[in-house]
This record gives sequence, structure tokens and C-alpha cells, in this order.
Amino acid sequence: MTKAIRIHETGGPDVLSWDDVEVGDPGPGELRLKQTAVGLNYIDTYHRSGLYPLRGLPAVIGMEGAAVVDAVGEGVTAFKPGDRVCYASLPPGAYAEERIMPADRVVATPDGIEDVQAAGMMLQGMTVQYLLRRTYRVREGDTVLIHAAAGGVGLILCQWAKHLGATVIGTVSTEEKAELAKAHGCTHPILYTRENFTERVRELTDGAGVPVVYDSIGKDTFEASLDCLAPLGLMVLFGSASGPVPPVDLGVLAAKGSLYITRPTLMTYTAKHEDLIASAGELFDVVQSGAVKIEVNQTYPLAEAAQAHRDLEGRKTTGSTVLLP
Ligand code: NDP
Repeated sequence: MTKAIRIHETGGPDVLSWDDVEVGDPGPGELRLKQTAVGLNYIDTYHRSGLYPLRGLPAVIGMEGAAVVDAVGEGVTAFKPGDRVCYASLPPGAYAEERIMPADRVVATPDGIEDVQAAGMMLQGMTVQYLLRRTYRVREGDTVLIHAAAGGVGLILCQWAKHLGATVIGTVSTEEKAELAKAHGCTHPILYTRENFTERVRELTDGAGVPVVYDSIGKDTFEASLDCLAPLGLMVLFGSASGPVPPVDLGVLAAKGSLYITRPTLMTYTAKHEDLIASAGELFDVVQSGAVKIEVNQTYPLAEAAQAHRDLEGRKTTGSTVLLP
């Protein structure tokens, strides 16, 4: 028996239940992991609320963690008991003291990267890797717009985009978050609670607009984000913190300058094992070189995951958050 946070029904943070669960032995190609740190991500709230429905309840939620290998299943040669590993991947089940995980979905945690740091960066960091390096390849001299710039993904995006030579414009809700974003590579933080961010982006780019917007807020920012784009610009809608975007009339893309739009997910970008390894490798490189610092600004006991969800959804957190089993 082990302890895990499960949902028996979808809903608010109160549906998170601290349960005894059976883990069992790893099957062929699987590992049993003793988890040392669990990453908190916005997708966990979508699984909990039912926005992204999970198949089969009760279910343990959670997509990211750092762990020590406890046992290996038949045919696993890449890992042995005692190895330090980390992951950000399906299947859900990370909110647990122990879990089973497919061996080809985890990577070795490099020396010099602590478990709390690894759990705070794998999902958000590999997301930033594909957003900046594959969805739109940010180049020296680009000016990019990043929403929720002081968040978990946001602080990594700002630092990494700056490292690639971009000028970063970022939106945040408070003065404190603006300061934090600025200290992490965001040249022009915009307090969108006070300023019209579209007008400010036009002003900062001499009317030209930006070639790419990274929008994880969704419903509340989508339309105004399109108005920040230069002709042929790319709208990267990668999250729905304020709720999902309603259906879009594609004619809008023509009217606003032959725009492109994509709705990417980390799962697609790391579905192939070689892509997972390459993405994690680039992330480890920028963290180990010091170009990107992973700011784990909140930790909670895993048993108190409900409070962590309230704080994340209540916009009280900054940077990354880790749950400790
Ligand atoms: P954050 O730490 O960024 O937290 C969310 C932030 O969004 C808040 O702090 C808040 O910042 C801002 N926000 C704006 N409107 C709202 C609202 N109505 N309710 C709550 N927050 C709001 O979370 P994460 O770093 O974990 O994730 C950021 C986003 O990236 C999420 O939308 C997530 O789904 C997405 N994501 C997508 C992935 C993908 O592959 N597609 C992978 C990983 C994350 P402020 O107070 O400054 O407005």
C-alpha cells in the first residue's frame, strides 16, 4: 500500500482525496518509482475539474515527478534500482508516494540537478523548449509576447527567450509579479490589470506588432492577443487558465493580417522517444549552464495538494510549485 491523491469525481480542489492505493509490481517495460518530489501543473487542475476528462475514476492525477527507481520490469535495460529519474508525461499518476511508470517515458536526472528542481521543471521546461525552439523558432532580435510571465512556464519562457536573443514583452497581474518577471529576462512587463496590453505592445514595437504570441490564458486574452501580432504572425494558444476559447471564425485570421494559429501540447512534441530525450537534454543544458534558473517558489506536503490547487488557480503562486510526498 502507498498513499496517493486521487479524484473519485471531478470538481473543485475538495475532490482531491488522500487515499491508500495498491501499487503492485512493474510489468514488462515498466518501472516502480519511489517518488521524492512531484510537480504541480495547471493541467492537474484541468484533470481535477473535468475540463480534460480522465478515463476511469477513481484516478491518481499528476503528470510530473522526480524519483528513485525501486524495481524494474522485464526487458528494462536502461535503468536499475537506485537510479535517479524524472519525467513529465502521460499516464497521470504522479500525485503518489510510489507509482508505476513506463521506462521509455522517464529520463535520468543529471548530477547537479536536485530532485525538487527536476520536479519543478520537467513539464514546464520541456514545454518552453518546444515553444521557443520548435513551434516558433525564436531568433536573435525577435520581440515576443508572453502572457502569465511570472508563472511557472512564464519565468522559464522569459529567461530562455532572452537567452536566445529575444526582447521579451510579458503580461502580469501585479507589481510584484512584474518585478519578478523583469528579474528573469522580461524587458517590458505589462500590468494588464491597469494597461491595455494590445496598445502597449503596439507602442513598444513602433506599431509593427510581434511575430509570435505565447498565450496560455485563453478565453480572456485570445482576441486581444491576435491584435498584437504582425502580419503573418503566429498565435500560439497553449493553455486555458481563464477558460477555453470559444470557436473562432477563421475569417478573423485573414482580416487581421493572414495570421497563423496553433494549439500545441507537450504530449505531441515528446511523443517520440528521441524527441523526449532531445527536449530534456536541451532543458538540462540551459539549466546547468545557468542561462535558466528554476524558481521553485512554493512547496506543499503532497497530502495538502488541495491547497496548492487553490493557490495556483487563485493566481497566488509564482514560478514553479512542488508537492513533497
Ligand atoms: P502559472 O504558474 O502560469 O499559473 C497561471 C497564471 O495564469 C496565473 O498565475 C495568472 O498570472 C495567469 N492567469 C490569468 N488569468 C487567470 C485566471 N482567470 N485564472 C488563473 N490564472 C490566470 O501556471 P503553469 O505555469 O503551470 O501553466 C501556465 C499555462 O501553460 C497553463 O495555461 C497551462 O495549461 C499551460 N501549459 C500548457 C502546456 C502545453 O503543452 N500546451 C504545457 C504546460 C503548461 P497573473 O496573475 O500574472 O495573470
